[in-house]
Amino acid sequence: MKIAFNEATTLRNSNLQQDLEYCERFGYDYIEIRLDKLKEYLRDRAVPDLQNFFGHSRIKPYAFNALESINFRDEAGFRQIKEDLIFLCEVGNAIDCKKIIVVPTFDIGDFTREQIKTETVRVLRVLSDLALPHGVRLALEFVGYPNCSINTFRQAYEIVQATDRPNVGIVLDCFHFHAMNSRLEDLRAADPGKIFVFHLDDCEDLPAGTLRDHHRVWPGQGAIHLDAILTVLREIGYGEMASVELFRPEYWEWDAARTIRTGKEAAERIIRRYFPLQESN
Ligand code: ZN
Repeated sequence: MKIAFNEATTLRNSNLQQDLEYCERFGYDYIEIRLDKLKEYLRDRAVPDLQNFFGHSRIKPYAFNALESINFRDEAGFRQIKEDLIFLCEVGNAIDCKKIIVVPTFDIGDFTREQIKTETVRVLRVLSDLALPHGVRLALEFVGYPNCSINTFRQAYEIVQATDRPNVGIVLDCFHFHAMNSRLEDLRAADPGKIFVFHLDDCEDLPAGTLRDHHRVWPGQGAIHLDAILTVLREIGYGEMASVELFRPEYWEWDAARTIRTGKEAAERIIRRYFPLQESN
């Protein structure tokens, strides 16, 4: 299992350049690049600077995070999604980053699960067609909030299956999985090849439906049954990567180097119980 860093973990105390340098220093295999940090980076640097960094570094880019609110959009909103998708495909071609996380919309009103499925399959197929010529894959991330239009593993996985495109898969985020009581038997029934990204995190012990991103804590320090999730992943044959993704304001107040180093140590401590780790040197 390779270890990745998701830039949300240092959302307020670092930028892309610093995240890259510290992730390389502390031996991460991959980074997930946030769209907002990428746009900020490109204000005074250019894509060849990123190419140059990755050309001389051990760490590699794994995915872009994220195109948000992809379903139930008006025309102008969806046009922006498509423009951002093409932008990420072009940057991705330059730096060999071929996955993009896509996130469903919140607070859509009274739509049935079937209507949500129909709409999301339609949208994913449009985006899939745009991404395919670039060799880019799309990973649908369900969000474990009651007001997110797709909020359980099973609901997201059924949509991915119905979309039926080789370049459309799912993000498994332990926090979102736990937060709305997604079921291990649904994960056990999944095709590991359809898990495009795995987000590793933990959270405080609040009831389902009340957990929010700021309740996330370092993997192994919270209430999520990570042992059960990792056991199932091993059973079904998924062992590609685990990306540390926290949104905890407390960790944004730390020095970024400490946040990034702590995330690596916490991830390795739990992952190595179930999977061999890549050697850092
Ligand atoms: Zn996530």
